[in-house]
Amino acid sequence: MKDRPDQNVVVVGAGMVGLCVAWFLRREGIGVTVLDRRGVGAGASWGNAGWLAPALTLPLPEPAVLRTGLRAMLRPDSPLYVPPVPDPRLWRFLAEFTRHCTPERWRRALAVFELLNASALDAFDELDLARTVPAPAGARKADQFLAGFTSSRAREHLRGELVAVGVDPAQVQSLERDELVALEPSLGPGVTHGLRLHGQRYLDPGRYLAALADDVVAAGVKLDTGSEVVEVVRAGAGAEVLLDDGHRLPADLVVLANGSWLGDLARPHGVRRLVQAGRGYSFAVDPERLPAGPVYFPQQRLACTPLSTAGALRVAGMMEFRPADAPLDPRRIEAMVAAARPLLRGVSWERRREEWVGPRPCTVDGLPLVGRTRSPQVYVAGGHGMWGVTLGPLTGRLLAEQIVHRRTSDLGRLLDPLR
Ligand SMILES: Cc1cc2nc3c(=O)[nH]c(=O)nc-3n(C[C@H](O)[C@H](O)[C@H](O)COP(=O)(O)OP(=O)(O)OC[C@H]3O[C@@H](n4cnc5c(N)ncnc54)[C@H](O)[C@@H]3O)c2cc1C
Repeated sequence: MKDRPDQNVVVVGAGMVGLCVAWFLRREGIGVTVLDRRGVGAGASWGNAGWLAPALTLPLPEPAVLRTGLRAMLRPDSPLYVPPVPDPRLWRFLAEFTRHCTPERWRRALAVFELLNASALDAFDELDLARTVPAPAGARKADQFLAGFTSSRAREHLRGELVAVGVDPAQVQSLERDELVALEPSLGPGVTHGLRLHGQRYLDPGRYLAALADDVVAAGVKLDTGSEVVEVVRAGAGAEVLLDDGHRLPADLVVLANGSWLGDLARPHGVRRLVQAGRGYSFAVDPERLPAGPVYFPQQRLACTPLSTAGALRVAGMMEFRPADAPLDPRRIEAMVAAARPLLRGVSWERRREEWVGPRPCTVDGLPLVGRTRSPQVYVAGGHGMWGVTLGPLTGRLLAEQIVHRRTSDLGRLLDPLR
């Protein structure tokens, strides 16, 4: 690494995306400071499901949303929930989001996701091999990645969708109840049919992020937590970062990677795309027998991941369009428990712990926002919605290419934040 003391980049946000951007920039010798108002993983990046699952990494605005109808989303126990509140920005987001749920627009977004998926795991390897991450904190190949269903119809529906979006049929194996339970005895009586997906990976997000933060700091990145960035302004050939404690931080360049809060800081720099929190919930349980790999229940929209801490299973789900900082709503957790009960056996649901809510940064077209804003010194990296862990390293790589080598790939152009 050759140091470039002339370059001083401030990254706002110490989530998966901000830390990956910091790592790829630092590898090029750039001086980097990461700022976070709370701490590492204080947003969506801590309690998520940690799947690196290209087969499932698809755009959120899909035609099925139009079929289900927004009405179903107003039920508090619905896995996709919109509170009936007069919030003009939220309703503008939903109106634009719904406009993107047509088959044609979805196919267009899907074509971009195909390109993202083709490089996502490769960028992960680049990051992890350079760091030699010890096993419990690193990404693992999922020898067993199962999806469980309550009917063969539901299973064939997902199987058909996966093949239609380009997943190799050989990677999607159908299983009947007895085969499924032989593979995964922790599945409950509510699961009658299954799929086994090959070629996927997973990680323990909290551990992975903590190790990544340690590594970027060891590589020379300055990590400052506790102050909120309230504005980023242009200052001569560079920029100035204004903090809530009154401090002003000079920078040659600023990267806004502050997740669901990105809109307020990016809007003055010409980024008009809305970023709305699609909040998800999770909690941990200690099943009598830990599943051997991730388990997905698509009908209930639940994602279960064995964590690296001994014996713990994370159960994640829900999509709640509410303000990012709204308090955790216990009704969502209870709805998840009720849905999960028949699906897993040997779990003391009452003894769950680590209840968590985190905001997925969602965009109306389902595509991330990565690249330069109208201010030449201000870049954004965010809006990854359901897939910011999977796409974090690739985002860091794309942005480093743009900033350091002034090269924007075809893929980079498709993620232009000024689109
Ligand atoms: C239940 C659930 C399950 C998920 N499962 C998966 C999965 O299996 N695989 C996958 O790839 N993705 C998954 N995701 C999505 C993934 O978690 C997010 O896309 C990703 O974490 C977004 O990362 P980020 O760095 O952009 O944002 P965040 O992690 O939200 O980080 C933003 C950071 O910016 C800080 N910040 C905000 N505003 C300011 C400010 N003004 N000044 C200073 N700091 C600020 C915040 O404190 C925060 O730490 C899931 C999400 C949820 C909720």
